[in-house]
Amino acid sequence: MTEPAKQAEQNDRLVFLGCGGARIVVAKQIRASGGIWFCLEGTQFLVDPGPGALVRMTASRHRLDPAKLQGILVSHRHLDHCGDINNMIEAMTMGGTQPRGRLFAPSDALEGEDPVVLHYLRPFLEDIVTLKEKASYELGKVRFSCPIRHRHRGEVYGFRFEVSGLTISYIADTAYFPELAEYYQADVVIMNVVRYKVSQLDHLHAPEAEELARKMRPKLAVLTHFGMTMIKAKPWQVAREMSERTGVNIVAASDGKKIDLSQYHQ
Ligand SMILES: [Zn+2]
Repeated sequence: MTEPAKQAEQNDRLVFLGCGGARIVVAKQIRASGGIWFCLEGTQFLVDPGPGALVRMTASRHRLDPAKLQGILVSHRHLDHCGDINNMIEAMTMGGTQPRGRLFAPSDALEGEDPVVLHYLRPFLEDIVTLKEKASYELGKVRFSCPIRHRHRGEVYGFRFEVSGLTISYIADTAYFPELAEYYQADVVIMNVVRYKVSQLDHLHAPEAEELARKMRPKLAVLTHFGMTMIKAKPWQVAREMSERTGVNIVAASDGKKIDLSQYHQ
């Protein structure tokens, strides 16, 4: 590998394995639903491995190797966020022949009447951590926290990641509430924006995402996890118009989209 290529390989970056969300889009795979792969200071981890995460990761033009993951984070137990969790544990640990890796998930994804992580796979993991509101964690060289419990069915957390000179927030499924802006302040903010127009659903809608961008003024905001109404409205167009109105750099994720984060470092 040449020096510049090697440098690029080491850069902080993320790949959207899928930008689809909610039931119809995921059921019909109108957009892929594999979650987001992160590489921060060389620590690789996967957030919200929805249906197809393993297939998207291994087939990706970015050639992502599940056996190099150090961890998997699940924001909540809905299938569009964890449908592939068991496949990913198996892939990360080479079918359990190489126990390794850490899993972070809310309590109702792990215990209770209807947990989503199979018990026979659990010994394959180095560690299983139950996420708690306001708690902080370390994974490799990454520090992260779950700033606030979300307003969404079940126990749901987003994440705020930190490495030297860079903060990244992931606002997972939630109904809008104004404090989100303060809790998720970061250089780069990823928002799950399921719906285009405001409704009663416990999800973020485009006008609410715009309001958050206006308040937070990140260096980059990325919209993802689109339901049908967002897809019909053309997410890249929605993002461009939001950028024009707010003056914030806002882009829409797409399936397989890679974002080099090095330019957002302080
Ligand atoms: Zn959900």
